[in-house]
Amino acid sequence: MKTALVCGAGGFIAGHLVKKLKSEGYWVRGVDIKRHEYAQSAADEFKVLDLREPAGCREALTLGSATFDEVYQLAADMGGMGFIHSAECEIMHNSVLINVHMIDNAARMGVPRYFYSSSVCVYRDMRPGEPEMTEAQAVPANPDNEYGWEKLYSERMLQAYGRKYGMKARIARFQNCYGPEGTWTGGREKAPAATCRKVAEVADGGTIQAWGDGTAVRSYTYVSDMVRGIYLLMHSDLEGAVNIGAPEYVSVKELVEAVAEVAGKRINVEWVKGPVGVQSRNFSNERIYSLGWRAQVSLKEGIAQTYPWIESQVRAQGAEAAGAEAAGAEAAQAVPQA
Ligand code: NAD
Repeated sequence: MKTALVCGAGGFIAGHLVKKLKSEGYWVRGVDIKRHEYAQSAADEFKVLDLREPAGCREALTLGSATFDEVYQLAADMGGMGFIHSAECEIMHNSVLINVHMIDNAARMGVPRYFYSSSVCVYRDMRPGEPEMTEAQAVPANPDNEYGWEKLYSERMLQAYGRKYGMKARIARFQNCYGPEGTWTGGREKAPAATCRKVAEVADGGTIQAWGDGTAVRSYTYVSDMVRGIYLLMHSDLEGAVNIGAPEYVSVKELVEAVAEVAGKRINVEWVKGPVGVQSRNFSNERIYSLGWRAQVSLKEGIAQTYPWIESQVRAQGAEAAGAEAAGAEAAQAVPQA
């Protein structure tokens, strides 16, 4: 039986990746600094470890006298644009430490195959209508944010260790990924989850706030497509970074419309000032296409899976808050009056 270590397994994409690896017959150890908030982990074993610490990385990688066949590194201090712009130091400090120690220890311990989750945030801003950018065009580099710089550095560090230690390095640059069981509240949520939450919170005909003017262009990749891409790439011979993303580009305004349609609500948007990120995106997917990968889930189909899950979370949170308020009122009534 093949063995895999999945780092960041208490998070969104790695949580789904563990399920994929289990369905492929792997024995899987999941590691994260916290347990998954929204799902029971499918991993055979789950360890809570801080991967910024070399000792945490060594414990994660130790498997008796054996070595993991495959390591998938998806742990990162990350979130949506609001978080990325407000927590630059935390991102650069924490994520770089995770990657420095994971790569160094994995290579020294003889891991044969190592996957790293990079991001299309490594690319510069684009104008709408610009020709597709290939992976090689990330350099000369000018990422829009520090999160992108950290990813570029970690990509290069992994490649250097891969060359020196003969560890096969596989690097994916993810487009925005969305789906159920991802962060949907608390400030780290990304645009699709935040939009679903806001639409779920208002009544039909209500108004939500969104950052920018609605014209920024993105593509959104459903999580089942993403984990299929990760798995294919990991088992391929493709060296260097590989973009993984759906070719369907939409404006933020169109994203809101897609969510409103699935929710069956008329939604007004008040566009407000906020950290929008880059204006446009348009990347070549030719490298991942060369492996036969194609996104199979359209934005509408993906939102139709994601919105009901977030709506149920919003309802559950509302019920919990109402329960806590009622319990508080009861407790207050029970306090003997002086
Ligand atoms: P996520 O936040 O849900 O998962 C990341 C996990 O890493 C979290 O569970 C977190 O607790 C864990 N982690 C953070 N610090 C840790 C530490 N010190 N030790 C151990 N674990 C730690 O994020 P995600 O959306 O699942 O992203 C997974 C990977 O994909 C990340 O590397 C991210 O940068 C990359 N990525 C994601 C997207 C996206 O749209 N979601 C896009 C591009 C790249």
